[in-house]
Amino acid sequence: MSQSSYSTIAEAQQWAFSQLASTSESAHVDAEALLLYCLNKPRSFIYTWPERALTVEQFKHFQQMIKKRQQGKPVAHIIGEREFWSLPFIVNESTLIPRPDTEILVETALNLAMRFNARVLDLGTGTGAIALSLAHEKPKWRITAIDKVAEAVELAKANRANLKLDHVEVLQSDWFQAVKDRDFDLIVSNPPYIDEQDEHLNMGDVRFEPQSALTAADEGYADIFHIADKAREHLLPGGYLLLEHGYQQALKVRQKLVDLGYQNVATVRDFGSNDRCTIGTWVS
Ligand code: GLN
Repeated sequence: MSQSSYSTIAEAQQWAFSQLASTSESAHVDAEALLLYCLNKPRSFIYTWPERALTVEQFKHFQQMIKKRQQGKPVAHIIGEREFWSLPFIVNESTLIPRPDTEILVETALNLAMRFNARVLDLGTGTGAIALSLAHEKPKWRITAIDKVAEAVELAKANRANLKLDHVEVLQSDWFQAVKDRDFDLIVSNPPYIDEQDEHLNMGDVRFEPQSALTAADEGYADIFHIADKAREHLLPGGYLLLEHGYQQALKVRQKLVDLGYQNVATVRDFGSNDRCTIGTWVS
């Protein structure tokens, strides 16, 4: 074996799969994502050049990353990035890794009938995934993104700079605190909504995400209900509230919105056919 070659792409992929098969449910996808990151190439490259050799450095780097994944660390944390709405988002341990399920919230928001320069508020923005995806599609919307956690605010600002979406306002705030006197055409949120007792919190990638981004009191409903209540003071007439929730929470969230006086309350399913978001209109 020459100095510059250690293993072919196909061999490295196979080796990584065998290393991860017992610890990750997504061993194949994980191995591929980490290999592409090491090679700094698009996905097509490894299918076009399976016989090409990795350099010694590349293979060492790959081995280190596979080891971290074996220890449970999420792929997004290992490579420091996750794609959402076809945009690259920087991620870290301070907040939630964006999920594909949340893309339905973005799509639903984009299809709403609103003025061209609508005022939009994203509560608990985390990486900024929702707010910045909306800003990318609707450059004229006046978007404010809020998070309570200082590190998440910094992260959202880093993503704002990286995506060149400088007009999005990013603020540190405990829910509506920093926007006390402001009204919006649309309020969106993917708040923490997992029940604090949920056994899934001890499994897989969520173990590496902060509880502050995942769990809420009252079987996961506390923050959703708080936002739904307070949003009424911050929605313009005809404004929309659009909330993500757990797949089994739709009924109670709809009921709450109806009880609070929202109209046209409806649930939207995600691309996995799970109830994922509920929307209501505020007609004051
Ligand atoms: N959907 C995420 C999960 O189930 C949780 C996101 C959230 O709490 N907002 O892991």
